[in-house]
Amino acid sequence: MSDPRPVCLITGASAGIGAACAELAAKRGYDLVLTYRSDGTGAEATRAMAEAAGARVVLVQADVAEPDDIDRIYATLDAEFGRIDALVNNAGAIDSIARLTDMDHARLTRIFAVNVIGAMLVAKGAVQRMEARGGGAIVNVSSVAARLGSGGQFVDYAATKGAIDTFTKGLSDEVAPSGIRVNAVRPGIIVTDIHGKAGAPERVDKLGPMTPMRRAGTAAEVATSVLYLLSDEASYVTGAFLDVSGGR
Ligand code: NAD
Repeated sequence: MSDPRPVCLITGASAGIGAACAELAAKRGYDLVLTYRSDGTGAEATRAMAEAAGARVVLVQADVAEPDDIDRIYATLDAEFGRIDALVNNAGAIDSIARLTDMDHARLTRIFAVNVIGAMLVAKGAVQRMEARGGGAIVNVSSVAARLGSGGQFVDYAATKGAIDTFTKGLSDEVAPSGIRVNAVRPGIIVTDIHGKAGAPERVDKLGPMTPMRRAGTAAEVATSVLYLLSDEASYVTGAFLDVSGGR
């Protein structure tokens, strides 16, 4: 019997970069576990795209800030597929533009719970299963904000992505002997709904033309880099950061 199709888990797949990764992963031959927090309609649309590209798709509603929800993601994955070959740790939140002096404890706790602790616990579940099977690949979705700092706008968000970069490097060292590669993509200004969620949809039109390439990027352009890092073409790449930012 031939090997079953590889399985990829993508968090935050109802829209934007996660949805683009799901569509491309399906085209590249993965079956998919896709998670979404609240946008069931968006998640169903992603499922339809991925199924049209030939994938078997399982959707799981999950808030990555809730450890029980992460357990449920993996219980579903174990029951439906019994394996995980690839993880796109994509779910991420942002809050409105603010200075640090206007950020309260609740805001900081929430953004770190989603972007850092959530991503670490999702990665933990993947590593446990990948180590048991002898390998796998993880891509964390960071941001150029990790090195720019986003002063005056989102120092909280930037700090979470800085933590993701450090985590990427540390985890890549930790699990390389187990045959698991861990890398990060750092998108720049990408056309998705996240800018609207930050109360600043105008960021795309304002900052896109200020990049060296004079435009914002697309979610599909991030997805190609994510899928490269997951693929065997990146077999000797781990602990790396790939900026997908038009040079920003
Ligand atoms: P998006 O808002 O379209 O997607 C974010 C996804 O994360 C959504 O599916 C959302 O439901 C999910 N999410 C948010 N909070 C969650 C939670 N608590 N639990 C589970 N899922 C949750 O935006 P996007 O631009 O596609 O963002 C995807 C990733 O890319 C994020 O990690 C974001 O930080 C990163 N990023 C985006 C840009 C950009 O310009 N769009 C730039 C750099 C990094």
